[in-house]
Amino acid sequence: MCKEGKQQSPVNFDSSLDTVHGCPGAGSSDWRVNVSMPAMNAVNVSNLGHTVRWTPADGVRRGMVVNGIEYSLIQFHIHTPSEHHVDNMPFDAEWHFYHTSASGHTAVLTYLIEASDTNHTEFQVLFDEVPIHEGESEAHKDKFTATHVLLELLARGGFYSYNGSLTSPNCDENVRWIVAAAPLQLGRLQIRRLARTVGFSARPPQENQDLLGHRRPNATSGKHFNSCQSMTSGTSATASLAPTVIMSGAAAAAVWLLASWI
Ligand SMILES: [Zn+2]
Repeated sequence: MCKEGKQQSPVNFDSSLDTVHGCPGAGSSDWRVNVSMPAMNAVNVSNLGHTVRWTPADGVRRGMVVNGIEYSLIQFHIHTPSEHHVDNMPFDAEWHFYHTSASGHTAVLTYLIEASDTNHTEFQVLFDEVPIHEGESEAHKDKFTATHVLLELLARGGFYSYNGSLTSPNCDENVRWIVAAAPLQLGRLQIRRLARTVGFSARPPQENQDLLGHRRPNATSGKHFNSCQSMTSGTSATASLAPTVIMSGAAAAAVWLLASWI
């Protein structure tokens, strides 16, 4: 599936062409996504070598409803650098909140992470107990209460959405991606520490037909935006079959092939 698939993730978003859904005041036909992510009273964290994975362990249900389909949060994990790009540029990291539905479908709520000069203290608890050695797990003793930051970011900045695939073998398709358009800012040192732990762990954007299905031909480009505030410049939407841009080289692909996380 990874080579032959037609709806492969990740993709590059073009901020001058691709629709940002979920913005305040958007029309009634807009995508409906409701995310419920209460603070976490207990989280297990595992060093899987190619990623760090956090698993809520307090028995509280977290999930999201996407256009009427209910998904439950199973775990979240990190990629460094980001897998999705915006305007052909990667971010410093990307967080995948992996959800499944009762019927076995997958949806991934995604946050692109941008390095800032100051650590985000509300998130530090997630990084303090990351095991140094591959294969080790730890049970968090502290609560992670900053889930509200993630929800606010989604509500304020909107999201890209498309139907793609898992980004690691076997690259199963029919995965619903909800990618927060506004990046999450974490401290440079916080990201560096994770990057040292997991190494290069990103599949590059894939070449597909237009998975977002609402690209405008001949649109003016060059205006970088990725949040709701910038949507006022949008004009009519006409589908185009232009392929998404493929990035990165053979070295990156080779590293990715060694990975075996979800
Ligand atoms: Zn992932």
